[in-house]
Amino acid sequence: MSQYIGRFAPSPSGRLHFGSLVAAVGAYAVAKIKDGKILLRIEDLDFFRCKKEYTSIILRELDEFGFKFDGEPYIQSEHTDVYYKAAKDLVAKEKAFYCNCTRSYLKNNSCHCRNKGLKEDSEDNLALRFIIPKVHQDYFEDEIYGQKRFPVLQESLTLIRRDKVISYNLACVVDDIRQGVTQVVRGSDLIDITTTQMCLYKALDADYISYLHLPLAMADDTYKLSKQNRSPAVLDQGSPSQMLIKALEFLNQDTDGLQPQMPPKKILDKALERFEIKRIPVGKKVVV
Ligand SMILES: [Zn+2]
Repeated sequence: MSQYIGRFAPSPSGRLHFGSLVAAVGAYAVAKIKDGKILLRIEDLDFFRCKKEYTSIILRELDEFGFKFDGEPYIQSEHTDVYYKAAKDLVAKEKAFYCNCTRSYLKNNSCHCRNKGLKEDSEDNLALRFIIPKVHQDYFEDEIYGQKRFPVLQESLTLIRRDKVISYNLACVVDDIRQGVTQVVRGSDLIDITTTQMCLYKALDADYISYLHLPLAMADDTYKLSKQNRSPAVLDQGSPSQMLIKALEFLNQDTDGLQPQMPPKKILDKALERFEIKRIPVGKKVVV
């Protein structure tokens, strides 16, 4: 069997919040107990939302928690040519098309650009959309949830936006393929996009990988913790050691004997010795 390769892939649109720490601990621990590698990828392609200074802050904060990732951090904005090439290959294979619909037009109308034959240089501000095949694998195996079924209902998926932002879905799939990621461990907020992303794997001639979706950290019954809804920075809520213990408790792990006075690296090492995937809960959990 090939070596397990996992990754943690935060977006530098703010400091790390508790939900990102849970994802980091989950991805890190699962990779370590499977004797695998854990990569760090900074998903900073949305230049409207991401800031360089947050990249530095996130790297420093992860360091403060005692995480040691394999290799250098991979910064997506340094590799934009790779995503453009993948996008153009999909156009060449007639699996993607250019679109000139505005967002306001799409609110009340559907896009018929697939039949217009728009060319990249025929007009500025074209978006690029991937054609979701009518017949596609609509399920996947999740290590926590078991078999999950999510038929993709939409007809197309944006690969490059009209404002030239490369989409999260394109970049994430291209990178997981290039970096040889064997299992994606991430928050359950992304569980329903999985089969859509698998359509991209297939179109890019890559093998499917496995998934493990972690419980979602919720601010209350309705809102997940996220940078968009201004969740507090996790390191403003407690020391690295305190917050690591809290994240491990959130993942229902054995935290017996772990003390906030211990250095974070020691807490991580001790937690890894007894981390159990089967203890990870399903669904959403309000953070108290
Ligand atoms: Zn269109």
